[in-house]
Amino acid sequence: AKDQGRDTFRFYSEHLTRQAFQNVLIDSALREAVAKKELHLAFQPQVINDSQTLLGLEVLLRWHHPTLGKVPPAQFIPQAERTGLIRNIGHWVLEQSCIQGSHWLAEGLEFGHLAVNVSAPQFRAEDFVAQVKKVLQDTQFPPEKLELELTESVLVRDTEALIESMHELRALGVMFAIDDFGTGYSSLSYLKRMPIDRLKLDKSFVDNIASDESDQIIAGAVLALGDALGVPVIAEGIEQDAQAQVLKGLGCTHFQGFLYGMPMYAPRTEVLLRSHKP
Ligand code: C2E
Ligand code: CA
Ligand code: CA
Ligand code: CA
Repeated sequence: AKDQGRDTFRFYSEHLTRQAFQNVLIDSALREAVAKKELHLAFQPQVINDSQTLLGLEVLLRWHHPTLGKVPPAQFIPQAERTGLIRNIGHWVLEQSCIQGSHWLAEGLEFGHLAVNVSAPQFRAEDFVAQVKKVLQDTQFPPEKLELELTESVLVRDTEALIESMHELRALGVMFAIDDFGTGYSSLSYLKRMPIDRLKLDKSFVDNIASDESDQIIAGAVLALGDALGVPVIAEGIEQDAQAQVLKGLGCTHFQGFLYGMPMYAPRTEVLLRSHKP
């Protein structure tokens, strides 16, 4: 048993070393990714009532490194959050999103809003509000077409100051969605004071919703909360019609997931937008 313990430990520490090594690799490669044009934006449709209406597009970052290959955001975003690099990357994402959005509008293409993910260290940066204002000005992107997705975890500390930042941006017309809702610890009394336009029901509650009664109860509770706050709830990660049917039965009308559209790069997104053109 003693030997086994030692083996387990060795395996564990080797694993940790490899993980740490991987993180260093990712970190140095990511620092050059913007300049080397390895980062791209993908866009995923958000729909109302079974894709009759395009509500908006969520912007999702993609990184294709020549030797590391396609690195998933779930791997490099948390790493970039730890090092603070996310502030530069997040700024790049925001700027590119607004440039793309302005370009589409100039072409007469309607997409609803662009929903951009914002990480905690980015939103907490002292000059975040000023940065957003500058990007909107530089790109001439209409503020009311920009939605910022914040996770609940962004808002647990310094909540008063962060709510103030939200209101400052809201005064310009910028919208807010609370991402991965149900997985964090939002205080309901704070939530009430935030200028929120949407709650996004986390995929973890949607995955088994067709069969899992407790997920149905949670989804129902989030939908009721959305009603109370006067904001729609987007259910994310819908892959099967059975999931959509159960959610519709609970009163959900806003959806996002592979069933309605995969994240696509700009050229394919443009094809979609042209087909939606009135
Ligand atoms: P998220 O914000 O919750 O984004 C939704 C994720 O679910 C995306 O993964 C999307 O591709 C995936 N997804 C959407 N529909 C389905 C579905 O039907 N089935 C399945 N299995 N997955 C679906 P992705 O693009 O890998 O991003 C993962 C996370 O990385 C995002 O989760 C977000 O937290 C973060 N992220 C991505 N882009 C950015 C960014 O530009 N900035 C920041 N700060 N975070 C980002
Ligand atoms: Ca999101
Ligand atoms: Ca989410
Ligand atoms: Ca998520």
